[in-house]
Amino acid sequence: MTVGDAALAGTSLGGADAEFGPGRLPGLDDLGAVEGRHVLVRVDFNVPLDQGRVADDLRIEESLATIRRLRHAGARMVLMSHLGRPEGAVVESLRLAPVAQRLSELLGDEVAVATDVVGDSARRMVEGLGDGHLGLLENLRFEAGEEANDDTFADALAGLGQAYVNDAFGAAHRAHASVVGVPARLRPAVAGELLRAEVEVLSRLLASPERPFVAILGGAKVSDKLGVISNLLERVDRLIVGGAMAFTFLAARGYDVGTSRVEEDRLDDVRDLLARAEDAGVEVHLPIDVAVADHFAEDADRREVPADAMPDGWMGLDIGPDTISRYAAAIGDAGTVLWNGPMGVFEWDAFSAGTNGVARAVAACDGFTVIGGGDSAAAVRKAGLAAQVSHVSTGGGASLEFLEGVDLPGVAALAQQD
Ligand code: ADP
Ligand code: MG
Repeated sequence: MTVGDAALAGTSLGGADAEFGPGRLPGLDDLGAVEGRHVLVRVDFNVPLDQGRVADDLRIEESLATIRRLRHAGARMVLMSHLGRPEGAVVESLRLAPVAQRLSELLGDEVAVATDVVGDSARRMVEGLGDGHLGLLENLRFEAGEEANDDTFADALAGLGQAYVNDAFGAAHRAHASVVGVPARLRPAVAGELLRAEVEVLSRLLASPERPFVAILGGAKVSDKLGVISNLLERVDRLIVGGAMAFTFLAARGYDVGTSRVEEDRLDDVRDLLARAEDAGVEVHLPIDVAVADHFAEDADRREVPADAMPDGWMGLDIGPDTISRYAAAIGDAGTVLWNGPMGVFEWDAFSAGTNGVARAVAACDGFTVIGGGDSAAAVRKAGLAAQVSHVSTGGGASLEFLEGVDLPGVAALAQQD
C-alpha cells in the first residue's frame, strides 16, 4: 500500500488547497510505497516536561496526522526529535522516554524508545520494528553533530532509514543534521502533514491574501518583529501595533511614554517603517489609550490614560479600552488577519484585557485568520478561542522567519528534489 492510497485521500491536508501552496514541496503522497520500509520522521516533540511527565502534549498531538497515515500504510517509523538544549551532552532530565510514553497513550499503540541517537540501542530498536510500528530515537541534541550538521552524524542518521519525512515545522528554520543533513542524503524526502499545512497557510498570506489584509503585531521587542513588519508592509492594508513595541512606535512619533520599554536604537527603523507605510497607503493603528503601571509587577497600581498623556514614571503594560474598540473594528471586516505578539503583559490578569479583546475580535472575524508566535498562540488557547481561528501556527521562530521572507532551510531541503 502506498501512503497516497485512494482510501487515505480524505486524510490529506493538501489537495483542494494546493493552488496557494508551493507546488514544489513534496508531501506524503509523493513517498511511494512505504510498507515494510524504514521511514525517518523528523518531528517536533520539544514539549515542556514537569517532573518526568509531559506537561503539555500539543506538539505531540499535532504530529499524529502524519504518524497515523504512515502507520496505516505499513511504514516502520523511526521518529526523531530534539528536546531542550542539552548542547551535545546526555542530560538525564531531557531524555525522550516520557514523550514516547505520552505518544503511546495518544496512539493507543506501543512506541519503542532508544537510549541513544545513532548507537547500538538505536540500531537494535530500528531492526526490531515491524510494519506499521514506531520507535523514537533519543534526544537528537545529545549529539553535538545535530546542531553542527556534522557529516558523520548525518550519515549515521540517514543510514537508519530508507525515506525521510519532515514534520517539524518548529525546527524548519534550523540548518541541523536532522533537518537538512538527512534529506540531502536520503530520497525520497518529503514534508509531513503539519509542515505542509504550515507552509501552505503562510505562503497564502504572503502571496494571495483576501482583502482587507490586517496584520496585528505586538509582543516584547520591536527588534524581533522589524523583519516581519518590513516584509508585510507593502502587502497589508492595515497594520495594528500593540505590546511593548507600540511604545517604540509612539516614541518614534514624538510621544512621551514614561518608563515604558522603548528600544532607542530602533527609533530610526521605526520612523522608516512609518514613512514607508504612508507611501504605500497602509493604515497604521497605534494605541490611543493605554493601561499604565507604576512599576513592573502584577499587583502594581494601574491606570488607564490617553496615549498622549502618560504620566511621568509610569509604564505602559497594555492597550486601553478605547484602543481595544478601535482595533476590534479594524479587524472585524478583514478578509485576512495575521496576528503575532500579545497586546500587553497578558500573563497578568490586570494587563490581559487588550490581548483578550483582540483575541475575541480575531475569533469573531469571518476572514482567514492566522496566529503566529508562541505567546500569542498561548494567549488564544488560554482564552479558549483557538478553535475559532483558521490556523494557529506551531512554529514561533520558524513562522516569523517565513513571514520575513527568509527561505527556511528545512523547507528548501525538501523543495530541491533532483
Ligand atoms: P510571540 O511569542 O507571540 O511572538 P513575543 O515573544 O514577541 O510574542 O512577546 C510576548 C511577551 O511580550 C509576553 O511575555 C508579554 O508579557 C510581553 N509584553 C507585551 N506587552 C508588553 C509591554 N507593554 N511591556 C512589557 N512586556 C510586554
Ligand atoms: Mg514569544
